[in-house]
Amino acid sequence: MFTDTNRTVVVVGAQWGDEGKGKLVDVLAEDADWVVRYQGGANAGHTVDLGARSFVLHQIPSGILHPTVRCAIGNGVVLDPETLFTEIDDLVRDGLEVEGRLYISDRAHLVLPYHKLVDAESAASQAIGTTGRGIGPAYEDKVARRGIRVLDLRDPARVRDLVRRGAAHAAAQLAVFGSTRCVDADETVAMLDGLAERLLPLAGDVGLLIHRAIGRGASVLLEGAQGSLLDVDHGTYPFVTSSSTTSGGAATGVGIAPTSIDAVLGVVKAYTTRVGNGPLPTEFDQELSERVRALGNEFGATTGRARRCGWFDAGVVRYAARVNGLSDLAVTKLDVLDTLEQVALCTGYEIDGELHTEFPSDVAALDRAVAQYEWFDGWMTPTGDARSFLDLPMEARHYLNRIQALIDTPLTYVSVGTRRGQIIAL
Ligand code: GDP
Repeated sequence: MFTDTNRTVVVVGAQWGDEGKGKLVDVLAEDADWVVRYQGGANAGHTVDLGARSFVLHQIPSGILHPTVRCAIGNGVVLDPETLFTEIDDLVRDGLEVEGRLYISDRAHLVLPYHKLVDAESAASQAIGTTGRGIGPAYEDKVARRGIRVLDLRDPARVRDLVRRGAAHAAAQLAVFGSTRCVDADETVAMLDGLAERLLPLAGDVGLLIHRAIGRGASVLLEGAQGSLLDVDHGTYPFVTSSSTTSGGAATGVGIAPTSIDAVLGVVKAYTTRVGNGPLPTEFDQELSERVRALGNEFGATTGRARRCGWFDAGVVRYAARVNGLSDLAVTKLDVLDTLEQVALCTGYEIDGELHTEFPSDVAALDRAVAQYEWFDGWMTPTGDARSFLDLPMEARHYLNRIQALIDTPLTYVSVGTRRGQIIAL
């Protein structure tokens, strides 16, 4: 992905998340000087399998697994300071050096214990199927101008005031929910006082750092979390996350100009999954869902929740290609389909007797959508050892070529297994 002219590259999920972005970022980080997270919080779990060891990263960019790469957490992320240090300590225990090459935007907002409490007690969060990590309430506070940023920790008196305000709002929300749980503002202030000493040395103006790195010609990877169909604006609202997951969010979430982005790699599975509630027009019947879930180990990296599974939906990915301006496509988990007798691609939807080839904006219409399929013979051959496109069985190549044509985006990578080396670069 990195060339003389492609220096700043965004990696986005082009479905409903869990597409295997962590693996692609890990592969691309080999050639990156910087890897930066731009949105989301500790709810996103990236899994990177290095063969002997496997790492699940929640907040720290996957680039951290490459010793020479510098990593940053942008202003668009909501940072859970407690779990950040647990994650750092775990990586250090595994022999990785983290401090000294991890930078945190001082404009990033903090996720605090009262956000998690509100998330856990909110019926609305449960209806959407959030991970309950306080991400949504932290973004709500940010937009309502009630949030607490990393930079506020430099002023203990300001932190005390802000926590009292935030905690009072959270307590009022809990009362509305009829919850008997209490918010302890003093405990939160004490926790932040304790963490500030360790957090502040990592904090600074990440936008400026990356701007300067780009100016020097560095290779910069901007790592998205979740997927395009979970974007707060472009996703299947209200069954979405609270941030801008798409490539536009990469610019605002890092603090660099949109014009400095050179390429956008969209990561998709060879089929579709989603966690939580909301429309999934190509969802398998229960039997096939269970089969593919077991084959693809489709359980959340952060929560262990079973993911819903369905056929590849070209309507979804074509939409994501447009909204993100995808320059490249990576198809992951092709190997998961190796034993299926037949595979299908959804090319459009019939809604109330009319054929739609563009992804509808109203989830109520999607609930009535009947997916239209093209069927293909399965390849019924293991693909995990393929290292070039021509190593793949003819039926698999045919399937991938059809995806490329339907999405009208060049296929740049095909991933055929969890391990670092199990990838085909086209
Ligand atoms: P992310 O958040 O987009 O990084 O996705 P997750 O890490 O939640 O989920 C991706 C899962 O798929 C991880 O367990 C990866 O190890 C796994 N994975 C990634 N690529 C492949 C692949 O090509 N084949 C298989 N079988 N698993 C893969």
